[in-house]
Amino acid sequence: MGSASLTVQSARDLVLQHCQRIPGKQAVESVALLESFQRVLAEPVFLDCDQPPFARSMRDGFALRNEDVQSAPVLLRCVGEVRAGEMTETTLKSGEAMQIMTGAPVPEGANAVVMVENTDRPSDGLVQVLKPVKGGENIAPKGSERRAGDTVLRPGRRISAVEAAVLASAGKAEVLVYRRPVVAILATGDELVAVEAVPSAGQIRNSNSFSLYGQVLKSGGIPLILDTARDTLADLRRQIQRGLESDVLLVSGGVSMGKYDLVEPVFEELGVMVHFESVSMRPGKPTVFATWKDRWVFGLPGNPLSTFVAFELFVRPVLKVLQGLPAVGLPVVRGLLQADVVERSGRSAFLPARVSSGSGMLEISPANWKGSADVFGAVESNGLLIVPAQAARLTKGETVEALLFEDLAYSNEVSL
Ligand code: AMP
Ligand code: MG
Repeated sequence: MGSASLTVQSARDLVLQHCQRIPGKQAVESVALLESFQRVLAEPVFLDCDQPPFARSMRDGFALRNEDVQSAPVLLRCVGEVRAGEMTETTLKSGEAMQIMTGAPVPEGANAVVMVENTDRPSDGLVQVLKPVKGGENIAPKGSERRAGDTVLRPGRRISAVEAAVLASAGKAEVLVYRRPVVAILATGDELVAVEAVPSAGQIRNSNSFSLYGQVLKSGGIPLILDTARDTLADLRRQIQRGLESDVLLVSGGVSMGKYDLVEPVFEELGVMVHFESVSMRPGKPTVFATWKDRWVFGLPGNPLSTFVAFELFVRPVLKVLQGLPAVGLPVVRGLLQADVVERSGRSAFLPARVSSGSGMLEISPANWKGSADVFGAVESNGLLIVPAQAARLTKGETVEALLFEDLAYSNEVSL
């Protein structure tokens, strides 16, 4: 205890170094296609047939031989129709056309489709083609997108709408995906009461379990909230042991220098190996990173914003890697600072801020925030302004960086 603080970068490097042992060892499971959204593919996906599987009309119109209509307008005999889902036996001869629908197979003998908008129907048996078409026009040849046997998705791909369409086209009713890591959340503190309770003197409601729950869900994990532990060795021992049954254990509180901050002594007793216990950052200095067997353990500082920031910087990448994704952090954006910022801590600071789209350049406005316990001042923010450790002061108008919370759009203006 009391060892020197690591820089944020070296602390992250240590976490990532441990992450390098994971790839290939993640557990996988098979789920129904509809259950696979937001999951990460753990197998390559191959096509079982050419795409398209037949020469397909891309328009509603008339299939024909393009040589016949070079001097359009031209009258052709209409010898039938092909609907989507049918195959026709007819082979088109010179001077003939067949009505065809989008998605229908192009008949033998035809080499182009003229759109219905460029035709007239003087009678049932005739079609007047008003414009010439090129050979192959409006036809997607068989196999022109992909061939049978082609790999269309690789492992590590997160499944979203377009991936789902590819999986469905490949006949994947069941999909092999990485298992979501189960993340136990353990709040500690004698002062904590449940959200339903009215706190008596000296008590506060437990809020960290709820913010962590949201962060775990958003990072793809399965959150599991444990009963709050009192600040006693016995209670902590019991609850931490319970938490070590999950893939990842997040303990909040009890990791700073107070007399009743007993989480680290219990880690030591249980053989949980601590890799760092202090990071030179604000908020979030007393962050602890540890492992036990193949389990991941984090001691997150009790203050709500400290817990929040430490999760985003250190826990999120681990959850990503456990799901077969790269250890991606929050996206970094650059923008113009909208007010002076003075940072006296000498540590790297991550300050709640609002990122908005300015004229041409993003604008980053520090939130009116009262420090690591203040969730209310942070609620209007959609990112964290980064103040590098060496910068004691940032000046209005300078270009600065911020981490952006992914799901909060900073621009709702779309020009069409
Ligand atoms: P600790 O690290 O346990 O000394 O906690 C630091 C500060 O965070 C104290 O003011 C605690 O009351 C507060 N805190 C600890 N755990 C929670 C929690 N689960 N929800 C809200 N505040 C908490
Ligand atoms: Mg405490």
